[in-house]
Amino acid sequence: MYKNYQKHLTGIIDEIKEKGLYKNERIIVSPQGPEIILDTGQKVLNFCANNYLGLSNNPDLIEAAKSALDDHGYGMSSVRFICGTTDLHKELENKIARFFNTDDTILYAACFDANGGVFEPLLTDEDAVISDSLNHASIIDGVRLCKARRYRYSNADMDDLEKQLKQAKAQRFRLIVTDGVFSMDGNVAPLDKIIDLANRYDSMVMVDESHSAGVVGETGRGVTELYNVMGQAEIITGTLGKAFGGAIGGFTTGKREIIELLRQRSRPYLFSNSIPPLVAAAGIRMIDMMTETNELQDKLHSNSEYFISRMTNAGFDIKPTKSAICAVMLYDAVLSQEFAALLLDEGIYVTGFYYPVVPQGEARIRVQLSAAHEREHLDKAIDAFTKTGRKLKVIS
Ligand SMILES: *Cc1c(COP(=O)(O)O)cnc(C)c1O
Repeated sequence: MYKNYQKHLTGIIDEIKEKGLYKNERIIVSPQGPEIILDTGQKVLNFCANNYLGLSNNPDLIEAAKSALDDHGYGMSSVRFICGTTDLHKELENKIARFFNTDDTILYAACFDANGGVFEPLLTDEDAVISDSLNHASIIDGVRLCKARRYRYSNADMDDLEKQLKQAKAQRFRLIVTDGVFSMDGNVAPLDKIIDLANRYDSMVMVDESHSAGVVGETGRGVTELYNVMGQAEIITGTLGKAFGGAIGGFTTGKREIIELLRQRSRPYLFSNSIPPLVAAAGIRMIDMMTETNELQDKLHSNSEYFISRMTNAGFDIKPTKSAICAVMLYDAVLSQEFAALLLDEGIYVTGFYYPVVPQGEARIRVQLSAAHEREHLDKAIDAFTKTGRKLKVIS
């Protein structure tokens, strides 16, 4: 039996390779940071991590994690509701709620699980989910697991959203769901307008702040802060795996009864292990840090502004962005790969994206800025981009 199946799999894998879509993993032998060392020995500047606040290797978080290892041990060997809840889990849940100005929080092993487990317990076939067409895969999967009627609107298109809301009028309850920041362009969901429409068409709102928490808004509270609508979305999901320390973990935070029901019914919460206490302890430290000072958020914002303005002045075509994601448009798939390879030779690690990850003819290099980048890192990257851009005749 396996012989035939093996041939079948090899066929699929070969097809992926022929299309040039095969993903190879680069091996890193240093901690995550602005400068990393590859297993080839090459030292490169990293511009493709979600390490927006530079916390992945932060000494204070490491210390908090180490000390929790000593007083709470390594693992919980239990789901939350049996014997997997420590004081640290509860404290982190409360701190996340205070950070986003919500009632309560429920932790998951990842935001993929938070999104996978949020729709099915809350909505039935009498209800409607109205989802942005560019929402993250975990939202798409989560929506698939619930029986609510599905409506899709074009990315951040408020006319289309209104049209879908009209069509969903007959359903009992409506939930609009959107990413806060869309990861390929770095554009932000127009949450003020979404909340307006939700009010007019009697709908609730859920926003996934995975790429925006810690990043967007003056103090990094995400798109609800950017649009001055904090506390108005019924549901916020997010990750501890990006700006918030980069280890592992996700959460849903929002209205009290929503969180309460999720604790009773959400399957990835009920049937999957509790996050390690050391991750919760580092998370607590991380939220404290972001509340005590705005240093990291300020540095990230000034780094993003500096990079984008200098790249624009150098003649690059940059997608409008309000986040720490900067899409350098090249439009051609082969060019994007060649560009990224030449940048790596210059010691700059970025990723080129092309169809089907982005629409056909919209190939680009995605640069992710971090508070851990120093001015000299940014200058080195801009110089390498400029040199390579001239060489490949992308700029003059
Ligand atoms: C990264 C991401 C996730 C997944 O988060 P994990 O905690 O890594 O599972 C979910 N939603 C969005 C929008 C993301 O960008």
